[in-house]
Amino acid sequence: MKRLLILMLAVVFTAGAQQAERPKLVVGIVVDQMRYDYLYRFWDMFGEGGFKELVKNGYSCTSTHYNYLPTFTGPGHTSIFTGTAPWMHGIAGNNWFDRELGRSVYCAEDKTVTAVGGTPEQGEYSPRRLLVNSIADEMRISNSFKSKAIGIAIKERSSILPAGHSANGAYWFDEILGNWISSTYYMKELPKWAEDFNKKKRPEQLLSQKWETSYPLAKYTMCGPDDSDHEGLFKGQTRPVFPHDIPAITKALGNFSAIEGTPMGSTLTKEFAIEAIKGENLGKGEFTDLLAVSFSSPDYIGHRYGPQAIETADCYIKLDRDIKDLLDFLKAQFPKGDYVVFLTADHGAAEVPGFVRQNHIDCGMLDFSAYTKTAETALRNHFNAGDEAKFILNTNNYQFYFNYEMAKKYKTTVEEMVEIIKPELMKLPEIRDVFPVSDLERGTSAFDPLRSKFVFGTNKKRSGDAWLVYNPGWLSHDTKGTSHGSPYEYDAHVPLVFYGMNVNKGEYRGHVEITDIAPTIANYLKIMFPNGSFGRVIEGVFKK
Ligand code: ZN
Ligand code: ZN
Repeated sequence: MKRLLILMLAVVFTAGAQQAERPKLVVGIVVDQMRYDYLYRFWDMFGEGGFKELVKNGYSCTSTHYNYLPTFTGPGHTSIFTGTAPWMHGIAGNNWFDRELGRSVYCAEDKTVTAVGGTPEQGEYSPRRLLVNSIADEMRISNSFKSKAIGIAIKERSSILPAGHSANGAYWFDEILGNWISSTYYMKELPKWAEDFNKKKRPEQLLSQKWETSYPLAKYTMCGPDDSDHEGLFKGQTRPVFPHDIPAITKALGNFSAIEGTPMGSTLTKEFAIEAIKGENLGKGEFTDLLAVSFSSPDYIGHRYGPQAIETADCYIKLDRDIKDLLDFLKAQFPKGDYVVFLTADHGAAEVPGFVRQNHIDCGMLDFSAYTKTAETALRNHFNAGDEAKFILNTNNYQFYFNYEMAKKYKTTVEEMVEIIKPELMKLPEIRDVFPVSDLERGTSAFDPLRSKFVFGTNKKRSGDAWLVYNPGWLSHDTKGTSHGSPYEYDAHVPLVFYGMNVNKGEYRGHVEITDIAPTIANYLKIMFPNGSFGRVIEGVFKK
């Protein structure tokens, strides 16, 4: 009897010890459009307790890359939290052409649901187009759905896709009403904590201030001039300069959307994330909870101004303070330190061509409507088809979707159509290759180290029939500001820092892929890896 009791105590003790090793909360932070170099370019202007705290006291993987294209927001957020790529998770772009519906679809659209707490059409979103589980789903499955999972971001796709199918809630920003909202996919009404937050009218308060720099302009020595022809404008502005008169811009816009394009959007997101942790009692239950929070404003700011702008630097300096506030809150909320944070980005961004071209760097603007026209003309000429013949149904995510009806009519194939359009497109200096997706199965161009990015970026049911490949530095955007989407370094190389309970201090310089994050967290939590994941566990992040 005594031996049995000792044995039972030992079992209880061991089980207890194993339980205690798990964090109470995992906070996955995504900074939309944050390139890895931003951590270091703006380092001297960061305060203590934000990015510096994560890097100094956490584990930083300084060579973390996207392993597919297109490097857009929907696929990026999905890949971080599912450990797999568009090839498998199905989020083949922010939008893609749906052959059955005969139209372009949005990655998080769902006309069967409507808004909760907001303008009806601002809530027609859910994760129904996601084909795999997120780490949030696996956490919930591991204890019969007792773990809680919440997603938060100004952009609905950045909130919904990380939080997975079984999330307790996903919240995004209704720019018409200025409220955080959700959809009937998740709930019938907003929880009280969210309602209470909305009642405070924080967007109104935040938009009542001008956007001023954190330091005198002369201190932003790593940036270009404040007044630059290569930067975009807010509605009603004449020059892209500080201070940005946000109240006047808000008046010109007639809604709350200005907050998306200012650092105040990050502040609003941080405040709502803290309320969610408190209101949902995240980390206070028996099992590990997950909060996926994405800061969308750096992307809007990056698009408008580009990597060389003072606005972009200032956006990160202010985000640093918001990160500090969030970390300080977590420290106070979890005095035992039993939480884990990771921070990464959904893609990077290209340099603004108009700006770097002045220094002889090869780059420029891509024009996909012109490429489509060139390809269509080549096909019409080849088949002697009339001007109204439509061989290309859609061009999106650097892919052509061919019209199979026309292929049938002219007894041709995708491969043959690519052979017809390729010579014309290859005349353009920026075009490097045009190839049918079937090439990816034949192992052709086996010596192209980027070829696997096309494999992992091609979803057979949702992607197009042929890839149009362009040179590094070229991008598809207005002439002002920048964009992303390519397989190249500037879009693919992002920060990745782990911080918190059982995280080693240090830096890993080896190659890490974005699909390694979810398996690393799952392995640490000792739960099943997300069901479509193919990433590897990053050794050395967590103490054994
Ligand atoms: Zn993004
Ligand atoms: Zn973007």
